[in-house]
Amino acid sequence: MHAFPCSQCGLCCQQVNLAEKTHFLDRGDGTCRHYKTASKECGIYATRPDICRVDLQYSLHYAQQHTWNEFVSLNLHVCEILQAQQVK
Ligand code: SF4
Repeated sequence: MHAFPCSQCGLCCQQVNLAEKTHFLDRGDGTCRHYKTASKECGIYATRPDICRVDLQYSLHYAQQHTWNEFVSLNLHVCEILQAQQVK
């Protein structure tokens, strides 16, 4: 299983208000309270919540329905949607 090819655009961390499972991270403007805007890094990466761990989420909730490559493709599609919205 190869690592998820995250481009570290930071866009998912800036829209945690959109998902019920990440809403608790919202600092008030939709961005995660642990997101470091200047460096586009997670400030607590080593101890980030389980919901931010893509490998773990796959194992727990999606491995029965999708191969890892399918899961990566589905998630990358969401990344592309977020990035396309950013361009407009
Ligand atoms: S905890 Fe870290 S990885 Fe999770 S949304 Fe916040 S900044 Fe992103």
